Amino acid sequence: MHTRGSAVMQRSPATAGERFGPVARCWVCDGPTLGRYFRCRMDFSEYAEQDPELHQYTGEHVWFVRCAACGFGQPEALPTLPNFFDRMYDQQWSEAWVEAEYAADYKDLIFDGILNELAHRIPPGRRRLLDVGAHAGRFMHLAQTRGWTAEGIELNPRTAAHAAAHTGAPVHRVNARALALAGHRYAAVVLTDVLEHIPEPVRLLAALFDLLEPGGVVAVKVPNGAAQWTKERWLARLTRHRISLAENLVHVNQFTPRSLTRALARAAFSRIDLRPAAPELPPAGNVQGLLDRAVRLGLFAAASLPGALQTGLALHLQAYAQAGDAGR
Ligand SMILES: [Zn+2]
Repeated sequence: MHTRGSAVMQRSPATAGERFGPVARCWVCDGPTLGRYFRCRMDFSEYAEQDPELHQYTGEHVWFVRCAACGFGQPEALPTLPNFFDRMYDQQWSEAWVEAEYAADYKDLIFDGILNELAHRIPPGRRRLLDVGAHAGRFMHLAQTRGWTAEGIELNPRTAAHAAAHTGAPVHRVNARALALAGHRYAAVVLTDVLEHIPEPVRLLAALFDLLEPGGVVAVKVPNGAAQWTKERWLARLTRHRISLAENLVHVNQFTPRSLTRALARAAFSRIDLRPAAPELPPAGNVQGLLDRAVRLGLFAAASLPGALQTGLALHLQAYAQAGDAGR
C-alpha cells in the first residue's frame, strides 16, 4: 500500500519534479483532504556563494494546502535537498547584530507575559526552565532576573555562544529529542516563534512533553496563520503590498487556534489554554513608531476580549499546556 501510494504521488502534477517530495497528509491530525490556497515563492539569491545547492531553489514555487479536518496549513511538498531547513537557517550573523538582538526590547512584552504566567503555574522551589530556540539569550536573561534557573537550546553557533556567555547558563546545541533522551527535565519549556519553522510540529511537541517533569508546563507562541493570511490579502487589496506568508517555507506551519490545540493534544498535553499572544513592539522613536505600537496594542486588546480569539484580530497565538498530572 505504501509503495503504491508513493508511486501515485510521484506522478502527481502537485509536485514540482525531483527537487520536491510530496507531503500527503496533515501533519497535525493526519487528515488526507488538503486543499490548495497559497503559492509560496522561493528566493535564495543571498545564498549564491554560501550554498550553491540551496541557491538552485531560487525561482521555485510550492503550494500551501489547508487541512479540511483541522484547518492547519502546510506545504504540499518539501525540498528533497538534504538538511534543507538547517542550511537555510545557517545564517552567519555578525557579533554586532547578535549583541543588538540580545539588547533589543521589542519582544519584552511577550517575554514578560510568559514569565508572569509561568510564575502563576510553577511554585518558587521548582522554577527551572528551558528556552528552546534561545537565540541571543535575552529571554533566559530575563528569566534569571526573576529567580528562574534557565537553560537553552540553540543550534546556531554564534547566537548559542552569545547566550551562554551572557547568562552563564548551559545552552545546548542539540535538538529537543536528544536532550530528552539524555535525561534532562524541566518544570517549564518555552517555545517562542519557533514551532512555525519546524516541519511535522507534533514530533517536536512530543519531545517537549518528554522534557517536562510531571505537571510541568509548556508555553508555545506561534503566528496565527489564518489571521496572517487574512491580513496579507487585505493589505494586498488596499495597497501595493505583495502577499508574504511563508516565503522560502520559513513559516512552514500555518496554525489556527483549532489546529494548535489539536497539535498539543496529539502530543499528549492536557489543560490546554489558548489566548492571543502579545505583539512585538518596534522602537517608538518617532510618530510612525508610536502609531505602529498603538495599533499593535489596540489589536491585542481587542483580540483579548471574550470570544475574540477566533477572529482575525489575534495575529499571534500563545498557548500553555500541562504534561501529565500536577499531583504535587
Ligand atoms: Zn489536519
